[in-house]
Amino acid sequence: MRYLSTRGSCPPVGFDGALIGGLAPDGGLYVPEEWPAIDVHPSVERYTDVAVDVLAPYVSPAIPRDELRPLVEEAYATFSHADVCPVTPLEDGLHLLELFWGPTLAFKDVALQLLGRLMDRELARRDERATVLVATSGDTGSAAIEACRGRDRLDIVVLHPAGRVSDVQRRQMTTVDEPNVRNVAIDGDFDTCQDLVKAAFADTALRDELRLSAMNSINWARVMAQVVYYVTAAAAVAPDGPVSFAVPTGNFGNVLAGWVAKQGGLDVDRLIVGSNRNDILTRWIASGVMEVEGVEPSLSPSMDIQVSSNVERYLWELYGRNGAVVAEAMARFRSDGRLDIGAARLDRVRATFSGVRVDDEATLFEIQRVHEAHGVLVDPHTAIGIAAARAVPSDPDVPRVVLATAHPAKFPDAVEAATGVRPLLPEHLADLLDRPEHLTPLAADSAVLADYLRAELL
Ligand SMILES: *Cc1c(COP(=O)(O)O)cnc(C)c1O
Repeated sequence: MRYLSTRGSCPPVGFDGALIGGLAPDGGLYVPEEWPAIDVHPSVERYTDVAVDVLAPYVSPAIPRDELRPLVEEAYATFSHADVCPVTPLEDGLHLLELFWGPTLAFKDVALQLLGRLMDRELARRDERATVLVATSGDTGSAAIEACRGRDRLDIVVLHPAGRVSDVQRRQMTTVDEPNVRNVAIDGDFDTCQDLVKAAFADTALRDELRLSAMNSINWARVMAQVVYYVTAAAAVAPDGPVSFAVPTGNFGNVLAGWVAKQGGLDVDRLIVGSNRNDILTRWIASGVMEVEGVEPSLSPSMDIQVSSNVERYLWELYGRNGAVVAEAMARFRSDGRLDIGAARLDRVRATFSGVRVDDEATLFEIQRVHEAHGVLVDPHTAIGIAAARAVPSDPDVPRVVLATAHPAKFPDAVEAATGVRPLLPEHLADLLDRPEHLTPLAADSAVLADYLRAELL
């Protein structure tokens, strides 16, 4: 498989180039040259067997099948549910796809557990090391740490805003005791942390000395890993028929994986995008205009985004795979904060996607409703998916699968506010609040951070 840039002005690369490069040199995102056909009736039922089948064409020839298999097996052995991503019925025609049985209790583990191992293998082949540098407002940091811990070729440094992440979120990062993991508490807010990361990447000397790497949500390997659970969920609830998915989304990464599955032949009826008050995606699906607004905090913080970067991969197909046109559209979007895709393209978007905005009040209501009706606790992100699924009129014969993206105990305050019940951490994390923490407080100063990184890592 060759990978092209959505902006069309750099040469194609293999899977290894897309994996290590992350962003293409022309600022575009890597996309596979074709959408390989997926076996939509997998005869095997193990998640990891389906994963190897679905992923093999995307990583070929860089990674042969027999080398892919152990990486996949190891990645999903870290999940505490035997089915890895189990599907459970919620109510008539509505199912939950539980993506939160990984080490940090949120769906990013599904992609990052594999990505860490894929990167480690490729760096070993090149005889190189890399330093993953991440700013986090809570969730991404712990998923990235779990992806890197114990890997031979990766170091990871995570910056979080001191005093501004929840206890559980901080401890999921700082209680990891591994020589290649470092946590830094920055005296500032999340934007400050992000600015420090940007400054470190912009410092070419530092970037080269430490071989800084991003592991962020635009890496193709993350999207690819997420295609697998659409296939296993469809096989579980509707082996012969269409199925719709409702996805609480921010960066468009998760729902894009569903669209990729559909391109590969999976019988997907509708892809329902759920957003919180930061609703750039649902406004776009309603009007055809993608327009940037400020970010406001919500009960579903992992979806508090201003721009959904993964949309660019979908736009590339929508604009007839014309990189020059995509580059021009993205440049206009960046300068004007606004992109109008026009009526004809909007019709094509709406042939597959529906969008539903669910505000905090409706989120709490949905958490409460699900608890009352079914005795099930769901986290705020999952609740947005459920509310979105219920808001879209649909054929009663087409089952709907809601992607449950976080364990309720990851967001205990919102769940308790809605239900009066405080969700418990799973057993393997039950002593999280008693474990020793490892972190270094630093001033919000790029020179101070550069000194720290050099002292620790060189
Ligand atoms: C990251 C995240 C999302 C949003 O995923 P995208 O890939 O940005 O669409 C939703 N829910 C949870 C719990 C998350 O951590």
